[in-house]
Amino acid sequence: MQEADASYERVLLATYQPAPPLFVRGRGSELFDDQDRRYIDLSGGIAVNLLGHAGLAATLTDAAGRLVHLSNLFRCDLVGRTASRLLELSGLQRVFFANSGSEANEGALKCARKRGQRIDREKYRVISFEGSFHGRLGFALAASGQENIRSGFGPLAGGFVHLPADDRDRLRRECDERLCAVIVEPIMGEGGIRPVDPQTIELAGQLCQQHDALLILDEIQSGCGRTGSFFCYQQLGLHPDVVTAAKGLGAGLPVAAVLAGPRAGDVFAPGDHGSTFGGNLLAMAAVNAVLDELERKEFLEQVLRKGALASEMLAKQAADAASPIVEVRGRGLMLGVRLDPQALSARDAFLQAVAAGVLVAPAGDNVIRILPALNIEDRILQEGLDLLAGALRARQG
Ligand code: PLP
Repeated sequence: MQEADASYERVLLATYQPAPPLFVRGRGSELFDDQDRRYIDLSGGIAVNLLGHAGLAATLTDAAGRLVHLSNLFRCDLVGRTASRLLELSGLQRVFFANSGSEANEGALKCARKRGQRIDREKYRVISFEGSFHGRLGFALAASGQENIRSGFGPLAGGFVHLPADDRDRLRRECDERLCAVIVEPIMGEGGIRPVDPQTIELAGQLCQQHDALLILDEIQSGCGRTGSFFCYQQLGLHPDVVTAAKGLGAGLPVAAVLAGPRAGDVFAPGDHGSTFGGNLLAMAAVNAVLDELERKEFLEQVLRKGALASEMLAKQAADAASPIVEVRGRGLMLGVRLDPQALSARDAFLQAVAAGVLVAPAGDNVIRILPALNIEDRILQEGLDLLAGALRARQG
């Protein structure tokens, strides 16, 4: 499969292997490269661009002309208003604004550690699940349940235990008074769109109550309307102490939030945690524009409808004997297409899809993810999935 020429990579640290085209502009769910070739974006900037490309142009232009940055040394009404709206939507109590998903999880885990240390010096254990991804910073990296992303950075922060997500007896056995938090993604995103059984999360919540620890839900990929409700946990009837959000929250602007409920909201005192850029006003303007959409019931209903449409199309493709698709899974517009590794690797599928004019996002478990803008038009979604079907078959013949 065609890889990009090396000049781009020569000037960037080799942390990614981007696909060959050089993109120069986008509108809605369409993108154009430097040759003016059109592509359909079903990757959404990895679940970020909720409102499509250039969707926030007017909001950001207006905000940039008012006030871009002030720092948390000063008050700004937009920060307080944005926090209140998030709390209203989530039913939680207090917010800390950060700039990325990893940072949000870092804040949530620091909160759990601080709370634990106040109770007992030995109360520092964090349980997370195998296959999870919580980010690439200190605590978030240590919590991530994927050996390949943790290895080579030791010694990592201690006190993190990774358990199989389907072994509830083991979860019961591992919880004791040393527990300060359980962190879990309702649907593992980077791990390959693998839903965690809600009964496991419910049990984790009960064990957290029993052992005076915090249940942290990492909704960085599953949140902000992607699964058809503001947060995924709201559909599953779960009651987290802390929720982390990022990715879609700013629809392309780097912004994240730690949302704390009553058991976590009073842990931090001035000086315990912070961020220079957290609460940046350009980002806050973007969050408000996102919330304007997500607060509309019809908007979320459309997410479910489009998700069902996409799942149905993908299931039809999977039924074709020539297709490498072995499973379609996920919720709303957070969909994973698992491929037979003997037939096609996720990396090759990703490159073939781009070559065919459609962007998707690879993930673990030989999965490609469909994470489009939530306002994608039906006809563009269908066209993108048709292009994807052709791309996945391309190798088979
Ligand atoms: N948590 C989850 C569930 C994620 O999907 C990601 C990113 O993919 C992160 C945390 C880390 O977010 P970021 O890359 O913004 O630091």
